[in-house]
Amino acid sequence: MPEPSPYPPPPHPGNRAPPPVYAEGPRVVHVGVPLMASTMPVHYQCPYCGNYIITVTTPVPGILTWMLCTTLFVFGCVLGCCLLPFCVDSLQDVSHSCPVCRNELFRYHRP
Ligand SMILES: [Zn+2]
Repeated sequence: MPEPSPYPPPPHPGNRAPPPVYAEGPRVVHVGVPLMASTMPVHYQCPYCGNYIITVTTPVPGILTWMLCTTLFVFGCVLGCCLLPFCVDSLQDVSHSCPVCRNELFRYHRP
């Protein structure tokens, strides 16, 4: 997987003037999931507010978490033990969100 190239700094920080509009058809807004999938915060341009931010990571229960929970439940770990996967960050998916507008940008799913 290629390493993401570092983003250049914004040309006019704080300047919210809209860019000039050209009559060249519909404007393409690049909203995509970055190639990197990581549990660590990453540099990213928020597609919602346009800021260059470092994502805020939040562990969220994923498929793996639920499978482990079910497995532990089947083997008799009823008294709260089956909830253990929800307390272990390394067993959960990671949600990356924007610290400015609080929107979730993408989610890292564990293999
Ligand atoms: Zn944002």
